[in-house]
Amino acid sequence: MTTHSPLSAPMIDPFGRAVSYLRVSVTDRCDFRCAYCMSENMTFLPKADLLSLEELDRLCSAFVERGVKKLRITGGEPLVRRDIMTLFRGLSRHLSAGALEELTVTTNGSQLARLAGELADCGVKRINVSLDTLDAEKFRAITRWGALDKVLAGIDAAQAAGLTVKINAVALKDFNEDEFVPMIRWAHGRDMDITFIEVMPLGEIEGQRVDQYLPLRQVEADLAGQFTLDASTHRTGGPARYVTARETGGRIGFITPLTHNFCESCNRVRLTCTGTLFMCLGQEDAVDLRKPLRASESNDALMAAIDRAIAAKPKGHDFIIDRTTRQPAVSRHMSVTGG
Ligand code: SAM
Ligand code: SF4
Repeated sequence: MTTHSPLSAPMIDPFGRAVSYLRVSVTDRCDFRCAYCMSENMTFLPKADLLSLEELDRLCSAFVERGVKKLRITGGEPLVRRDIMTLFRGLSRHLSAGALEELTVTTNGSQLARLAGELADCGVKRINVSLDTLDAEKFRAITRWGALDKVLAGIDAAQAAGLTVKINAVALKDFNEDEFVPMIRWAHGRDMDITFIEVMPLGEIEGQRVDQYLPLRQVEADLAGQFTLDASTHRTGGPARYVTARETGGRIGFITPLTHNFCESCNRVRLTCTGTLFMCLGQEDAVDLRKPLRASESNDALMAAIDRAIAAKPKGHDFIIDRTTRQPAVSRHMSVTGG
């Protein structure tokens, strides 16, 4: 029988789910202002509140010690944080040691042309790039500040560096629904999986969520008219459910927090750039890890705080988007908790 010292015991929540996946938002800032994610005039956290890269490394390493096998660096836009590659380089030691199985990143792609090679050098093998349209004007409209050609050059650089790229697209009513088929053909033609995400009610934005929300059940039914879709057993440790398009041989994923509750198999917790641990993307339950982290060089208080957090992991979220529910389910934006 394996015994664990209390400091390295695996993290099992009250519903018997083992927590093996940590998502870390390393900054709430971004060089884009995607209309469903941020408002145009965002107030960002004061830089002094942010954990340093050394503190982020120490926290991530504590989670690896507690059984986290998959670490995803996200944001905001993670690759705009200054010296971010220092964090990747540091964390790559857990890959070499075999304690961590995967180090990965979710990015808008704007910095990839510059950083893809270094990410690959740090042991990153797969990355998610968010891309909601292949039309340069629509891309500018939805991201407000982004440029499509830069992101496409970033994807080229990532593939040239040997990274496996998955495309994430948020399904937005009256915006990109007519592009799903060409986007799938484009992604599969470049050997990339593509996952569609339902828009979630996170944070105040301009406009109404109900005007953006497109149920993926409907999207999948429409796609079945264009492709022969076979159910796939493919899992990435994340919440997506996959099908394979027989015509292209590529995979299409669906992340459906609203139409299909994905909480039963939730293995994740999320850390913000200020050291707050959220146990669920869609609930307010949180534990501050910055204070115990800074209180002492020993990790005892930190590990105790992590135990308290895991013991309080909620069963699931209660997202609703309809005409009568005008408030976001949670007030924080996706860029704070990390997508
Ligand atoms: N900036 C990076 C990016 O865009 O990939 C990483 C952070 S971003 C918050 C992570 C993912 O969350 C992106 O794929 C984005 O499209 C998605 N996202 C942002 N706000 C969302 C919302 N309200 N509902 C659903 N997905 C959202
Ligand atoms: Fe930035 Fe990503 Fe949010 Fe777009 S989705 S504003 S790229 S954090």
